[in-house]
Amino acid sequence: MRVFYATQFVLNLPPGHRFPMQKYALLRDALAAEPAYRLCQAEPASDGELALVHTPAYIEAISHGTLPPALQREIGFPWSPAMAERARRSVGATVQAARAALFEGEGVAANVAGGTHHAYAHKGGGFCVFNDAAVAARLMQAEWARRSARHRARPLQVAIVDLDVHQGNGTAAIFRDDASVFTLSLHGARNFPFRKEPSDCDVELPDGCGDAEYLQALEWALGELERRFAPDLLIYLAGADPHEGDRLGRLKLTDDGMEARDRRVFEWAWQHRVPLAMAMAGGYGRDIATTVRVQRTTFAVALQYWRRWCAVAESVSEPVGDAGGPMAAPPAVR
Ligand SMILES: [Zn+2]
Repeated sequence: MRVFYATQFVLNLPPGHRFPMQKYALLRDALAAEPAYRLCQAEPASDGELALVHTPAYIEAISHGTLPPALQREIGFPWSPAMAERARRSVGATVQAARAALFEGEGVAANVAGGTHHAYAHKGGGFCVFNDAAVAARLMQAEWARRSARHRARPLQVAIVDLDVHQGNGTAAIFRDDASVFTLSLHGARNFPFRKEPSDCDVELPDGCGDAEYLQALEWALGELERRFAPDLLIYLAGADPHEGDRLGRLKLTDDGMEARDRRVFEWAWQHRVPLAMAMAGGYGRDIATTVRVQRTTFAVALQYWRRWCAVAESVSEPVGDAGGPMAAPPAVR
């Protein structure tokens, strides 16, 4: 399973900064030790790709470090050339994962970072510079439309399933008036961001929410997705921060609950034969090893579903769909 990373660009954060930058390298190294994952260095997203979502003035300001100080503080990272490069590559990693899953016949692929859902078109926030899932959704729609007149006649439908504990406010705002992208967010009602944006489907959870309540809410939300939308691509933000060991999450999911959550999302996508690109989003374990452990389990679940896609690919000798379309697969179970 292909896993895209940009962890060589590390931000030099001031001492005591609360962002656990080292988690990305720990996760990447853990995955690299397992031969089933193929680690691939992410390419940076270009200005033109970023501009599918972000304003030219914002892209320019991030590229050259000229963002006004108040907006830089809202992001929460000091500017540096590495910060700008890392932000571009984090978008590139989700783009490449989406392309691998959707167009390159792999069904499942992932970014070891990304899920920067607090970024709006014109500004960042909450440790998010550019919105990787939003850029990936728009770019895949553009690549889809270039394939044929038939593809142009029906725009690629993308579902962004955001299970980070914080609301995907930037993503919701970007796609508010876009019927071709369905935004779904399960999040803590009393957590950041305190001014939430309406997604297509929002579920607010109380502080202390445990496994059973969470999984019931997820089931309801996936039911809404199923009833209201038919995605061709699913982008999954698998935040580790609903876990009980998280400093910022305020929820109480156990390891088993987190794994059941991931399994439910991958199973839903598999049942509907929807290719899935995953980004990691947040994770702020009181012990960083907890966050990395939860994320590794997420990758282990992803790998199981990637293997199912591979098995289908091997059993289909002739592609059924258009060349270069989503991988030929048995009909979806709707
Ligand atoms: Zn979060």
